Amino acid sequence: MIQRIFNFIDGEYTYLPECKYLDNYAPATGEIYALTPDSNEQDLELAINAAEKAFPIWSKMTTTERSNILLKISDLIAENLEEFAQAESKDTGKPIALARRMDIPRAVENFKFFATAILHTSTPAHATENGIINYTLRKPLGIVACISPWNLPLYLFTWKIAPALAAGNCVIAKPSEITPFTAYMLGKICKEANLPKGVLNILHGQGGKIGAKLVAHHKIKAVSFTGGTQTGAEVARLAAPQFKKISLELGGKNPTIVFADANYEKALESVVKSSFTNQGQICLCGSRIFVEKNIYEKFKIDLIEKVKQIKIGQPDNEKTEFGALVSLPHLQKIMTYIELAKAEGGNVLIGGERIKIENAENGYYFLPTVIDNLAFDCRTNQEEIFGPVVTLMPFETKEEVLEYANSVKYGLSASVWTSNIETTNFFAQNLEVGIVWINTWLLRDLRTSFGGMKASGVGREGGQDSLLFFTEPKNICMQML
Ligand code: NDP
Repeated sequence: MIQRIFNFIDGEYTYLPECKYLDNYAPATGEIYALTPDSNEQDLELAINAAEKAFPIWSKMTTTERSNILLKISDLIAENLEEFAQAESKDTGKPIALARRMDIPRAVENFKFFATAILHTSTPAHATENGIINYTLRKPLGIVACISPWNLPLYLFTWKIAPALAAGNCVIAKPSEITPFTAYMLGKICKEANLPKGVLNILHGQGGKIGAKLVAHHKIKAVSFTGGTQTGAEVARLAAPQFKKISLELGGKNPTIVFADANYEKALESVVKSSFTNQGQICLCGSRIFVEKNIYEKFKIDLIEKVKQIKIGQPDNEKTEFGALVSLPHLQKIMTYIELAKAEGGNVLIGGERIKIENAENGYYFLPTVIDNLAFDCRTNQEEIFGPVVTLMPFETKEEVLEYANSVKYGLSASVWTSNIETTNFFAQNLEVGIVWINTWLLRDLRTSFGGMKASGVGREGGQDSLLFFTEPKNICMQML
């Protein structure tokens, strides 16, 4: 049965009689299984009005009251974890085990983290000579927009919404039209948690249409956006003339650097994970693997062997480790990159093609792919593919591999594998990225600053950075007698 998704506005699931719908596909089978509202300006105005009415109520609540409601939301997501995980897996094509282990628990944590963070934050104050005291007030901004992508739908949606709400703002949020389902489910949870009406409004629809209107709306004070670099540039272009605050978390082309002195087995295990978790569709996946020359040939053989063992299958199979890609256009984009890699002289060591899975012949399955024999500066090694395609390259010196690593326009993250402290320091100092992992990957502490350099973004999210972004500082300078 095809399910219908609704916008969540003013505390209710709503739709306008003339509402048009977009098809929502299950990547595992290629079938349409839900219809998503193609929201328009009228829906946006309803959401803006609701948020405007709610702002004085929400922003004036005590931090403890806000915290309790957000903790309730966290608890309710946790109570419904299985239902959310099933929905996320169906909507994205990701393995159910991954949705259970990573996506939904992280949404639970996002709400819990920011609900409690606001109980422990304080603002600076200092006394100067002559009895003067300066202190800082931090006020919520008003109505803010949160726009998120399809790869980690509820995980990234809540990563933005939770701090925005915790700081006292009202939110209009737009999930990706490709993966709207868990955002839709969140409306019911907010109602059950007694989140006041209009505090969170969830609008579905096309990015270029309702997303752009949302960013440009004069009552939106700030935009927190995660998505592609090209879209980020468009968001910045729309927001800049109105001097809105923007936080942009964008694309990446992350290097993984393996030295011969690293713990070989751990490095190998991690490279498989950082290459192919979520079918390679995580902004932090390492897509360019540089291996020191004296272990290159062995590493290549062992990596291929490990990749052969990955369990590919339907996302709802408990044993599946690698499911379907998110959409047919995305699969087609990845196939064009395979052709490009071949044209650039690449040697496909494993994968490189679409596969058919029994009973799901129309699903969007593509084999995990490793390619070598490519120059560090060819297009395959410079452009974001955002799928299960990685390249393997040898290097001889740390200076040489640093040049390769930093050669791309992106600067999101890097993972370096070595047991040498000098090598560690060298890369920590010189890699042009927002996050450097040493002998690990995807270890996230929500207190740390998260974000990218260069074309990977503007600003930082996480911990205090998110709360600072969603509030406006005001300096009060007071002469005491
Ligand atoms: P997109 O940039 O296509 O879309 C991101 C979101 O923006 C979606 O909700 C989309 O809606 C919306 N959108 C599209 N056009 C506009 C517009 N003109 N104005 C406002 N909103 C718009 O990214 P993808 O969804 O394809 O996600 C993949 C990208 O996200 C990759 O580049 C990846 O690296 C990046 N990413 C970055 C992360 C980070 O933290 N740095 C984390 C995760 C992903 P719709 O889907 O309806 O078009």
